[in-house]
Amino acid sequence: MGEPAAEPELPVLLDSAKIAARVRELAAEISRDYQGRTPHLVGVLKGAWVFMADLIRHLSIPCTVDFLGIASYGADAISSGEVKITKDLDASIDGRDVLILEDILDTGRTFHYLQGVLAAHGPRSLKLVALLDKRSRRVIPVQPDYVGFEIPDVFVVGYGLDFDQKFRHLPDVRYLPKPPSH
Ligand code: 5GP
Ligand code: MG
Repeated sequence: MGEPAAEPELPVLLDSAKIAARVRELAAEISRDYQGRTPHLVGVLKGAWVFMADLIRHLSIPCTVDFLGIASYGADAISSGEVKITKDLDASIDGRDVLILEDILDTGRTFHYLQGVLAAHGPRSLKLVALLDKRSRRVIPVQPDYVGFEIPDVFVVGYGLDFDQKFRHLPDVRYLPKPPSH
């Protein structure tokens, strides 16, 4: 009987207005850089889909989209470096200007792996757009081409990002005051 237990309020790191303003800036930058071309945006599931949906609506150039599914193990607080593709691309990227869209760049292992896999399929260019960048945690020296926000080493959720599949629907980026055990 009664209401389900409310989730405890999580502290906000980036509110939705701040995110929206930055996403518009990124879209303007990308539109400028890819003027006259039709970039192919590849969203990494599931975390990047909210970001991607907002970003493409502010592009002033045409684009095509596809998605790549990546295995996550349990609550995936850290990445093991062993990345498994659970959903492959639908369309060929041969000769395309590919932009990989990631929710967050942490150790860099996931992107490093994806870069290798996708580069082997002959794109004309391959660049990385990361909404969030935890630069201090980098293990592999990969550098995103477009970054929304550099953030400190906290475990963030919301705006597409989950903890154990929860919190993806939150409009702000929030953080867990007690980080999940690494
Ligand atoms: P990397 O391979 O760069 O270490 O990790 C990237 C992936 O780890 C992200 O795509 C995301 O799934 C997960 N990750 C890393 N840090 C966080 C975080 O603070 N919050 C959430 N929800 N996922 C994270
Ligand atoms: Mg995840």
